[in-house]
Amino acid sequence: MKKKILIITTGGTIAMKHNSPFGVIPNDEFALQLKRFPKLDEIAKIDVYEFSNIPSPFMTPNKMVELSKTVDKKIKNFDGIVITHGTDTLEETAYLLNLTLKTTKPVVFTAAMRSGSELGLDGPRNIVGAVRVAGAQRSKGRGVLVVMNDEIDSAQDVVKTDSGKTDSFMSPSLGLLGIIDPDRVIYYRKSEILEKIYTKKIDTNIELIKCASGMDGKFIDTAIAKSTKAIVLEAFGRGNIPKTMLPAIDRALKKNIVIVIVSRTQTGRVIPEYGYEGGGLFLQKKGIILGGNLDGSKMRIKLMVLFGKYGNANDVKKHLIEGK
Ligand code: ASP
Repeated sequence: MKKKILIITTGGTIAMKHNSPFGVIPNDEFALQLKRFPKLDEIAKIDVYEFSNIPSPFMTPNKMVELSKTVDKKIKNFDGIVITHGTDTLEETAYLLNLTLKTTKPVVFTAAMRSGSELGLDGPRNIVGAVRVAGAQRSKGRGVLVVMNDEIDSAQDVVKTDSGKTDSFMSPSLGLLGIIDPDRVIYYRKSEILEKIYTKKIDTNIELIKCASGMDGKFIDTAIAKSTKAIVLEAFGRGNIPKTMLPAIDRALKKNIVIVIVSRTQTGRVIPEYGYEGGGLFLQKKGIILGGNLDGSKMRIKLMVLFGKYGNANDVKKHLIEGK
């Protein structure tokens, strides 16, 4: 029997066309086209639900939570869900859903790097691949998946690595989970760690600051002035920052603002290695938390979810340190 798959559309280039003189903009025929897409009908019984039709720079963490609620509500009537999304913020939305969804049924994000007016469209192929993955028995219990360019990645690991290429989505640290070849869904590995934080409440008062050489503490002071709950610092290498940021960091710690260090390098973990002023070990001794191998934008989402769940800095710190 054919699997029942719901496609939830949120917008993005996959639903856009070039419309002179406005450039590439959203097009409201996308949901309709999906319903009539013959290839999809051969694979599964398709239903379409339009959640939004926005470019993904318009996506917000609050909308992501609404999407998470929608998926948990709607999935009861389907075998799996495919979510179409803009590529720009896809990895953040997919990650928030990965943390917060209750369902273990397949939830698969897909997108397009090329709009409907370009040569060599990737969108239709990506949607067909995503529907195959959403309908595959073996996709269950793997967390939220991302299908692009015939590859299957975990929402925990995937990043947009290139602004234009169709093979932009990769998991640079840990690699892909599987492939679609040519119509078979093949898995090579399973995520050993599948992190869940069950809540549908978030606190968006979290800042992300990327460190650069010679930087001072003015962005941290701005965050303190707006009573930010937590700051993610994308630090150098193993988790080191310019010592000129330290006075502002001390001011933030005094206010019990949670500070988490991650690395601005594409792959690898931050560790308490360097003991000089501003080094990872020095920072950890001050009470700064080292954020493992998560990147800055995903750590920001995780802190929003953690503050939504616990509502206070001490429990959030405990969760981050003890991993629960
Ligand atoms: N700017 C577009 C968006 O993220 C790019 C895309 O969809 O690929 O909505």
